Amino acid sequence: MKKFIFLTGGVVSSVGKGVTAAAMGRVLKARGLRVAIQKLDPYLNVDPGTMSPYQHGEVFVTEDGAETDLDLGHYERFTDENLTRASNFTTGQVYNEVLQKERRGDYLGKTIQVIPHVTSEIKRRIALVAKTNADVIICEVGGTVGDIEAMPFLEAIRQMRRDVGRENTMYVHVTFLPMIGATGEQKTKPSQHSVRDLRGAGIQPDAIIARSDLPVDDDVRNKLALFCDVEPRAVIPMPTVKSLYEVPVLLEQLGFGDLICERMGIAHSCTADLSAWKTMMLAVQRPKPEIKIAIVGKYADLPDAYFSVRESLYHAGVACDRDVKIDWINSEQLERDKNGELMARVKAAQGIVVPGGFGERGIEGKVKTAHYAREHKVPYLGLCLGMQIMCIEFARHVLHTDEVNSTEFDPATAHPIIDLMPDQRDISDMGGTMRLGAYPCKLTPNTKAYHAYAAAEAESAEAVAKGQAFTIYERHRHRYEFNNQYRKQLSDAGMIFSGVSPDNHLIEISEFRDHPFMLGSQFHPEFKSRPNRPHPLFKAFIEACIARTA
Ligand code: GLN
Repeated sequence: MKKFIFLTGGVVSSVGKGVTAAAMGRVLKARGLRVAIQKLDPYLNVDPGTMSPYQHGEVFVTEDGAETDLDLGHYERFTDENLTRASNFTTGQVYNEVLQKERRGDYLGKTIQVIPHVTSEIKRRIALVAKTNADVIICEVGGTVGDIEAMPFLEAIRQMRRDVGRENTMYVHVTFLPMIGATGEQKTKPSQHSVRDLRGAGIQPDAIIARSDLPVDDDVRNKLALFCDVEPRAVIPMPTVKSLYEVPVLLEQLGFGDLICERMGIAHSCTADLSAWKTMMLAVQRPKPEIKIAIVGKYADLPDAYFSVRESLYHAGVACDRDVKIDWINSEQLERDKNGELMARVKAAQGIVVPGGFGERGIEGKVKTAHYAREHKVPYLGLCLGMQIMCIEFARHVLHTDEVNSTEFDPATAHPIIDLMPDQRDISDMGGTMRLGAYPCKLTPNTKAYHAYAAAEAESAEAVAKGQAFTIYERHRHRYEFNNQYRKQLSDAGMIFSGVSPDNHLIEISEFRDHPFMLGSQFHPEFKSRPNRPHPLFKAFIEACIARTA
């Protein structure tokens, strides 16, 4: 029988419920169990991909091309399992489905209600994840208990206990303990109230994860246990830690993995083995020489918008024994940088990353950055839009004109070096035209991209030994592509197309012949980097930064 763990949040949001779910996944995986994680988002948006990063941070893209919540990035990084579109859904999608069914007449004229119709649709979607080969399904309900939109989710997960049995369900409530300024006393009252709300929805938590900025002492733990009616050992104190990747180790130390297995009678073959994870943590914590990387992007004031990019840089840093310090530089401000203050910061960095993005704000600031990196031979990694920027900048140089652009930013440009593919130009609905999810990319031998992947991909060893091209898969999320009409001119001038689609139609990676490391990918490598397996392109980039300063 499949086991379900339902995670709810109390008091305030943004206290790390997603990381907790991900860390629980790792703790269970360490016992040889197969784990799937799912996020239920209470908001009404049908298409989370169109939400502003200011509202929800990064859009994380899965292999099968779903645009999802950034928590899925935590799930993948912690459990090292690729998730699918079934792993994230919103209230909007649920209602959309129910209303469509009603319009089609599927309900045979019945009165459509939140219970049972909406709750049944929620359970149907939870069951989709349960259909995978996972032994345990961790299901995180977004937001906090008491939110009006989350009510149908709470009702659905309450029903799940009846549907699949008490021994197969566990409810874990993540709360926050605020501190009173002068005395520094941790208050449990808001947590008590949120548990009361949860009980009002018919759910008694089996465990409480008590988030706090400081360590939680036994008195507080016992008080929470008493007032919220859970065993003291099922109150798991979770102080703020320096690195997110410490959380699985903490959960294990507090016996949470054993508690989960005991509570649901999960038989597992081996004792928990987090040794590889702990070795990685030691590497994370070991003091390392610093390396400064500038990220030049539109949302520089909101690093959550580039969550996976930041993590990928850290992963590569650990693998190269460097402590990556990121300087976030706002590309829009860089355009107007009158006294050169921001450009001075770009110049002070040992390497530059230009991440993905949409819309024309800040574009010229990024082009300025790429120009500097190319001329001064500073390592540059361009991610999706970052590759397009690199091509625009180089084409302006080669064609001796500034009349070069992407048609996304200037539809009438004389030289549309980045453009929609011919078959996309007539589509007026922007929603349906993105290239999303994993696509193959064939790597050109004897290029920087080829060597980077060759060093990491064991499956390609045979091809590498013979110096042959091999194929990798990377995740996409973009609408515009490199315009093939300019391929010859740019390659004659020194640009190498080191990754192309297998039919050679689409440019996937470009780099420069005469530059230590200036490389851009049309895909987003950051979605596949893992703490114990840095992405080859990020690693090669950091290595180039180190080589430059050595
Ligand atoms: N705006 C560009 C496009 O749609 C790049 C998108 C991105 O960086 N994810 O092609």
